[in-house]
Amino acid sequence: MTERPTILYIEDNLDNQRLVQRILDARGYQILVAKDGPSGLAAARESMPALILVDINIPGLDGYETTTRLRSLPHLRDVPIIALTADSRLGVRERSLVAGCAGYITKPIDPRRLHEQIQEFIDGKRELVPSAVETSILREYNDKLVERLERQVRDLSAANAELQELDRLKSNFLATLSHELRTPLTSILGYLELFERQTLGPLTDVQNQAIAVIARNSRSLSRLLNNLLYLQEIRSTQTRRVPLDLSDVVQHAIIELQPSAQEAGVDLQATIAPAVIFNGDMTALFNAIRNLIDNAIKFNVRGGSARVTLSHDGSRVLLKVEDTGIGIPVEALEKIFIPFYQVDDSLARSYTGAGLGLAITKYVAESFGGHVTVRSALGVGSTFILILPR
Ligand code: ADP
Repeated sequence: MTERPTILYIEDNLDNQRLVQRILDARGYQILVAKDGPSGLAAARESMPALILVDINIPGLDGYETTTRLRSLPHLRDVPIIALTADSRLGVRERSLVAGCAGYITKPIDPRRLHEQIQEFIDGKRELVPSAVETSILREYNDKLVERLERQVRDLSAANAELQELDRLKSNFLATLSHELRTPLTSILGYLELFERQTLGPLTDVQNQAIAVIARNSRSLSRLLNNLLYLQEIRSTQTRRVPLDLSDVVQHAIIELQPSAQEAGVDLQATIAPAVIFNGDMTALFNAIRNLIDNAIKFNVRGGSARVTLSHDGSRVLLKVEDTGIGIPVEALEKIFIPFYQVDDSLARSYTGAGLGLAITKYVAESFGGHVTVRSALGVGSTFILILPR
């Protein structure tokens, strides 16, 4: 059986889509429908149609602009693009031809003739526009395009300014909120410590257990607030650079996180090259590294493992954090570094955190000229590598 020729049809109106689809399908063509210019262009990039039908009055990029853009795709150089429209105003036909169409079919569509009209164009028919008319239409078309571009740039700049202002307000709000919450929380943590040390008198076992629950949750709240404040801070100030030993920094993070690894049933092990000296900021790097290891424990499974390796070559320091955890879906791999993004953002999720850890790690890495890479497979595990140039 010979393959059916494909017709790409760019049209926003559902009734027209169905009608043309039915007519051409019955005549042995295969129809690919796109609802607007950008999706038509995307479909055209990935297919090799025998002919493209474009409705002129489509929203966004109009039919003329879509045609001009389609014409610039090298693999469609010889593919006829046919304008299809009910617009009977003077000049529409000429404008379509100047924009790059090979011909023009008027609506209403004649169901008995459409396949013949299409076949003529597939077989090589080309309509022409007189060259004097072409020049004046081309000039008018160019002016219109530039005018539209100017309007779009203006609208986008205004939208961008508004978004920046909203972002600034959001950041201020978060900073204020974090400060306001910080003060009472500091007092809560202070009193908790007094209870834990039994400074305020002996506690029963049950009271001790209750205090442990309050302490765990208060410290998690405290970490969240610290992260929020810290993110604001590193975005607005320059990080300091002093020589420090990253081996110590990694060792400290491991010691701090070992209890939570044990609690989660995750085997946390580290291989740390000695005396890895780096010019950086201790607090910033500790946070960046801690976040990676914390995630390797948090998004793991009971009985899983987390391996941390600190190494260096002549020009770079590499911190690799590998886990055998739940993994990250491919489509989320780029987004996980955006502040507040979490793969599971439902309120019912079983993981703590606010989606700030990786954003902080990325900011810190970049502030020292470095970056973070990630590889992951769902259900198998993830590997993050923090790379810092020396
Ligand atoms: P948080 O851990 O507070 O949610 P992060 O910014 O550290 O925020 O991470 C963002 C999201 O990326 C997490 O919510 C999680 O969905 C995903 N993620 C990060 N690290 C891992 C990992 N090692 N394994 C699986 N998912 C991860």
